[in-house]
This record gives sequence, structure tokens and C-alpha cells, in this order.
Amino acid sequence: MPLNHLNQQDHRYLASLVAPERCSTGESILNTHSRDQSRHPAVRPEVVIWPETKEEIAAILKYADEKRLPVTAWGAGSSLEGNPIPLCGGIVLSFARMNRIVNIRESDFQIDVQPGVIYKEMNHELRHTGLFFPPDPGAGATIGGMIANNASGTRTVRYGSTKDYVQRLTVVLAGGEIIDIGNRASKSSSGLDLLHLFVGSEGMLGVVTEATLRLAGIPEEFAWAVATFPSVEAASRAVLDTIRSGIDPAALELLAPECVELINRARNFGLICSPSLFIELHGPTRQRLADDLRIVEEICRNEACAEFRPGLDRAERDRFVEARHALGEMIAQAHTGQKRVVIDVAVPISTYPEMIAFARQEAQKAASVTAYTFGHAGDGNIHMVVGAQGDDVQAWHAIEGLNERVVAKALHLGGTATGEHGVGIGKMKFMPAEHGASLEWMRKIKQLFDPNGILNPGKMFPSQR
Ligand SMILES: Cc1cc2nc3c(=O)[nH]c(=O)nc-3n(C[C@H](O)[C@H](O)[C@H](O)COP(=O)(O)OP(=O)(O)OC[C@H]3O[C@@H](n4cnc5c(N)ncnc54)[C@H](O)[C@@H]3O)c2cc1C
Repeated sequence: MPLNHLNQQDHRYLASLVAPERCSTGESILNTHSRDQSRHPAVRPEVVIWPETKEEIAAILKYADEKRLPVTAWGAGSSLEGNPIPLCGGIVLSFARMNRIVNIRESDFQIDVQPGVIYKEMNHELRHTGLFFPPDPGAGATIGGMIANNASGTRTVRYGSTKDYVQRLTVVLAGGEIIDIGNRASKSSSGLDLLHLFVGSEGMLGVVTEATLRLAGIPEEFAWAVATFPSVEAASRAVLDTIRSGIDPAALELLAPECVELINRARNFGLICSPSLFIELHGPTRQRLADDLRIVEEICRNEACAEFRPGLDRAERDRFVEARHALGEMIAQAHTGQKRVVIDVAVPISTYPEMIAFARQEAQKAASVTAYTFGHAGDGNIHMVVGAQGDDVQAWHAIEGLNERVVAKALHLGGTATGEHGVGIGKMKFMPAEHGASLEWMRKIKQLFDPNGILNPGKMFPSQR
């Protein structure tokens, strides 16, 4: 049955469920919740509601389900694939007011949070406990958005992605039922793993209203190095050898020369403009890290690394990490007026050099397109930020083709169309090629949890649009 638009009665009823200032149809509010950080066209919701309790959410979802009204959850809107764009209009549930840390249980290495908590702010709050939440997508993402997208980041090579840190969820289902999933034990072999069904489900199976997250200990000491190589392939091989050596790096980030040049310009690092690896190590003592750095240097030198700049001091490391996270912004500033997309694929680590070489060759064929290649190399994850003038139809046609060829190559190598940004709108068309017959089982699961298709409609399954 098709979904409906809100009528006057719907607006009145929904407004009656929350305090007046927590329900808006104001132009600027609707516009703010009409697009994420991607290039996908904006679609405005019909109302934005800021719930404060799971009971309010249950009442909203119960009504929406009865009336067949679309509901899309909204974290910080920092997605890159159109994930929170309310494609069918309807209700946007913003979690900006459910942003409390409920309980820090230091001795269990756990934290209970509401979904609107910004992960960076949470880590700031945690700093005195000696614990932290490792997944770091960089943008000002919320925990709810990170769970829904299974976000990861620079530290995933050592610490894993969001899915590895979610222990328990409270979820409101499409009809308004509230369920608790998972538990607080550090291990369990009880029943089907519903928890991980919800992680990465992009708000399509239910709405997360509270999460228990596992935390890691803040390492005693940090070491880092920047190594420059004659080719991207040589740098990729050094990544493989570093992992193979048994050293457990906390970050292994690849930067193609064009990225190094930008970082030099913006932060004055004076690095050689060659393919580079930013390597971070965490450990209990400086001595241990100094030993590890020597091994990493040997590995890099074996791949004809021209410069190896190591360090054990925290301030310089922080400067590199900040610069790496600011790369997207630097690219935007270098090409004002351009529109951009981020191609995000991941492949088995052994095929990383081949994948990188392919993507860069293909990008070079596209005239009037700028391309910046970097990635979480330790995870086999490549990002390519490609841009062109918004009205350059030919260039955008070329970018579309480039994206398709890069994804096809990643799938051919046994990888995935989306390393960490989720499916959203942008990666929907690749779902059949990536998942084959198992996509049908995903569809059945969606149908089971959300039979009327009200939750984040129009996403993930191509034929649903
Ligand atoms: C500059 C930049 C760099 C980035 N780098 C990375 C990176 O390194 N790694 C990475 O993984 N991502 C990265 N991202 C993408 C993005 O930040 C992440 O995907 C992030 O997890 C999105 O969180 P959000 O709070 O903005 O969620 P939103 O974009 O608001 O929503 C994301 C999805 O979650 C759903 N959702 C939100 N809250 C809930 C809830 N409570 N219950 C159920 N569903 C919910 C939404 O419906 C939507 O489908 C980057 C983005 C930018 C702009």
C-alpha cells in the first residue's frame, strides 16, 4: 500500500504528542533536514519532531504506521550517500534532544547513551575515566547515526568499527513496540544475533533510542610516522607487510601525492609530495613503541621509502590526525564552486594495491574531473573524492561512469560497494550485484520488521523506489 502525505489532522495529532517547541513545519527547519553532506537532491520532510523519550517515539511510530506516514530518523545529517534524506517526505525524527549520557560504567568498560550524543563530545566526557569509544568517522556524527551506518574510521584497523562496540540497544519498532536487544555481558551465545541486524540497518528496521557501548582503554603512549614512497602500490605493499609483521597499528592511512600537497599547503608540514602513509601506533611504553617504529621503518625502507619521519610526541601526532580529518575540507577549499562525491569501496587487503592502481588510472581518463585518493589502507578501504563544476554535464557523466567502474572492480575483487558510508541512495543500485540472492532475504527481514514500509522508505532496495 502506498505511503501517504500528512494531512491537517495528522499534523494536529503529531503536534499533540510532544511539547509545541519540539514539532516544526518551519521552512528553514524543513530545509535543514532535507539533505545530508552528499550531492543527492534535497527532499523536504513535512514535519520535524524532536522526541525526548522512547514512549514519545513509540506513540509517533504507532500513529505513523496506522496512517502509513513515512518516518526517517535524523542524527547529525553528516552522511555521504543520502542516507537520512526523507525521500518520501513525511516525518523526520531528530535526536538532537536525546543527547544524554545515561550512565558511565567504568568498571564494566561500558557506557549507556541516548542516540543523539555526538561521539566526539562523548569521548571528551570520558577523558578522565581512561576509556574511549574508538570508531572515529571524523564528522560530528551522532551515536545513532554511527550505529545505523556502522561507521568506522582511521582507527578501525586496530579497534574495529561501530558494530564491534554495540552491546545492547533499545529500539522502537515500526508499530510502536519497544524492545531491548542484546545484553551487558562481554560475550553471549544466546539466540539469533538481532543486535547486529540493527547495526548498519540505516534506520530501516527500527529507531534506536538507547545504546550500551563497549569502551576501550586510552593507550598510555602514542607513536606515529609519516613514510613517503615512490608509488601508491609500494605504499600499499608496506601496509600489507606492516600488518603481516604482527605489529598492531592503530592507523594506517594512505595519502596520494595530491593529498600530501594539499596538507602541506594548509598545515605547512613540508612532506615530500609522494604517496605517503600515516602510521599510528599505540602501546604501554615509549620503549616498546620505539622498537615497533624501527620495525615499521625497516618495512617501509624495503619498499624504497624515501623519507621516514617518526615521532613519539603527542602534539605533532595530533597535528597530523587533525590534518587528515580536515582533508575533505581542504579539498573543498581548493575547489570552491565544485560539487563533489566520495567514492568509498573496500577490498580484501591483498588486492588493495591492484584496486588503488585501477581507481587512479580510471580517474585519470576523466577529463575536467579532479580526483583525490586516500583511504584507510589498513582496512582495504579506498576513498576517492571526485569533483567537477555542478553544471558540467559531461564531467558528471564521467564521474558516474568512474564510480560504477570502481565499484564493479571492488566487487570483482571480492569487496564491497560501500566500505563505511552505507547504502543510502547512492549505493542502492549496486545492491543486487553485491548481494545476489541474499538481497531477497534482506528484503524479507525489512518486510518482517516494517510491513508497511514506513521507516526510511525508498532506500537500500532498488525496486522499492
Ligand atoms: C567530512 C566527512 C567525513 C566522513 N568520514 C567518515 C569516515 O571516516 N567513516 C565513516 O564511517 N563515515 C564518515 N562520514 C560519514 C558520516 O559522518 C557517518 O556515516 C556518520 O555515522 C553519520 O552519522 P550522523 O549522526 O550524521 O547520521 P545521519 O547522517 O543523520 O543519519 C545516518 C543514518 O542513520 C539513521 N539514523 C540516525 N539516527 C538514528 C536512530 N536513532 N535510530 C535509527 N536510525 C538512525 C538515519 O536515518 C540515516 O539512515 C564522513 C562524513 C563527512 C561529512
